[in-house]
Amino acid sequence: MSPTPQLDNSTSDHADREEPNSSGRDPVTDHPCPPRREFKARGAFVTRCEGCNLPELNCLCPYQSMAESRVQVWLITHPIEHYKPTNTGRLIKDVLAPTRVFTWYRTTPDPELLGLLADPRYAPFVVFPDDQPDYVHRVVTIDAVREVASERIPVLILLDGTWRQARRIFRKSPYLDTLPVLPLHTERLTRYRLRKPASESHLCTAEVAAELLRQAGEGEAANTLDDYFDAFNESYAASRGYERIDEPTPAMQRLLARRA
Ligand SMILES: [Zn+2]
Repeated sequence: MSPTPQLDNSTSDHADREEPNSSGRDPVTDHPCPPRREFKARGAFVTRCEGCNLPELNCLCPYQSMAESRVQVWLITHPIEHYKPTNTGRLIKDVLAPTRVFTWYRTTPDPELLGLLADPRYAPFVVFPDDQPDYVHRVVTIDAVREVASERIPVLILLDGTWRQARRIFRKSPYLDTLPVLPLHTERLTRYRLRKPASESHLCTAEVAAELLRQAGEGEAANTLDDYFDAFNESYAASRGYERIDEPTPAMQRLLARRA
């Protein structure tokens, strides 16, 4: 459900390199530059924190905050998406501990996922747009999530990849064919800054989760995930400009207050 991909390492080594001046400071921001070779290929050789996988310059670990939610999220992640440090699906697991992440392989579905889909304790919904006529009979609204919550654990199944990958997962996974389809209806525009979206209305995976959690009545979980997502964006974007965030942003301050 991510917007159109723009690979983090898609820029060639030499295409848009701007050499720092002789003082070792970035010519645009006048911030001190680390050795230039650290930033070749937009991120490929950046030193990353082992905890959060962000560039060490602005590690996200101090802001990681957990929240409780009756509604769970399971991710079915396209294998290519797994390796992108700009992936936002993983942020959901940092905030909501019960989150499960499965890798999608077309011909070999994960047996654990199949077992969970058959487990009567859960009420899974596959999150997908309601823009095609052939599954209109399966489309439900967020009310269905709210209504089922008293008896079973609602589960939002998010297809984590580009729109094209998500559509492929939706169409090529027979075990999803019987599940109710939950579209996200929202006026929200994306705040994701790390890939260029095809449209501002294309939300990335963490934003889709936060919005649906909010609509399902899990406001605290939604707000925590939104703050964590914003902190991720801010940290990552700053690191791309070699800029260290010294003063925590409002989202970071709220996360620190939760942890205190
Ligand atoms: Zn970290």
